[in-house]
Amino acid sequence: MSTPVENVVIVGTGCAGLTAAIYTARSSLNPLVLEGPLPGGQLTTTSEVENFPGFPHGVDGFMLTQNMREQATRFGTRFEQALVTAVDFTVNPRRLTLDGGRVVLAKAVIIATGASPRMTGIPGEKELYGGKGVTTCATCDGAFYRNMEVAVLGGGDSAAEEALFLTRFASKVYLVHRRDSLRASKIMAERAVAHPKIQMVWDSVPTEVLGVAEGSVSGLKVKNLKTGTASVLPVKGIFVAIGHVPNTGPFTPAIAVDEGGYFKPESGSQVRTNVAGVYVAGDCSDHVYRQAITAAGMGCQAAIEVERWLAEHGG
Ligand code: NAP
Repeated sequence: MSTPVENVVIVGTGCAGLTAAIYTARSSLNPLVLEGPLPGGQLTTTSEVENFPGFPHGVDGFMLTQNMREQATRFGTRFEQALVTAVDFTVNPRRLTLDGGRVVLAKAVIIATGASPRMTGIPGEKELYGGKGVTTCATCDGAFYRNMEVAVLGGGDSAAEEALFLTRFASKVYLVHRRDSLRASKIMAERAVAHPKIQMVWDSVPTEVLGVAEGSVSGLKVKNLKTGTASVLPVKGIFVAIGHVPNTGPFTPAIAVDEGGYFKPESGSQVRTNVAGVYVAGDCSDHVYRQAITAAGMGCQAAIEVERWLAEHGG
């Protein structure tokens, strides 16, 4: 039996992918959405989203993506759990190979694969990641650290947000940052610095996660970059919040990327790529704004581009 040709395959189920699904499904394109390892994307690991328009009192990140998914399903979106491992964009229809070997053919593709948390790479981090004390998600794991001391690594909005969230559970939160001022927005930075449970550890980098032999985190070695002094923070939990790496691997070099590995859209467009009929949306191609609402906006743009592309090229 020959492989069916999809109108449009959307890769990723964050805000960008789900918005693209809502739009293409409402246009009766019967989209197939491939869902990766983090259904719903990064927003599902956020507690309260206070800046998504339309929710004056904030909305839970998980609920927001669940609602988007329900909305996409209502108009006929099909979901399949699969990772794209390779693509051939030199042929028409476009070919996507999935883990397990299945091949999907598509007239148009929207890549909305997001970005994954960046890790420090220090000794002990990998060994104690996931259930052993090192994590990238305070919302998911914060409650495990009731009345314990924890450390958050980073100085951006994510680090400030994670640290503030963790004050609900932890007895003390060390915020370890390599400089002496936070990159986070003023309101978040002020909230974090002023919080009585948060202790700033300025000008410092983590050098080792302790506890590998015991199988759980027993401390974090840090080094002050100005004085050279090394010390150990007596923490049981370490929350890494030092930014993200775009999930563009399987699509390169077919789709052009910039020096940071982010997809590089064609000039004059946020979502058109160097391959006709293939579009990008969300954090996999945006290292500037990286907001739920901007990702959703790009998903919408990509969907409208697909509708036009299919109308012009025999959809
Ligand atoms: P980010 O803004 O890129 O900040 C990453 C932080 O980690 C920086 O402070 C950086 O230090 C530090 N860092 C990077 N690599 C490091 C390393 N190897 N070792 C130690 N420290 C390292 O990332 P983000 O905080 O995840 O935020 C990403 C975007 O999402 C931003 O646009 C942010 O505004 C947005 N965001 C918004 C909200 C919100 O509005 N509620 C919440 C979360 C995120 P330097 O400062 O020295 O570069």
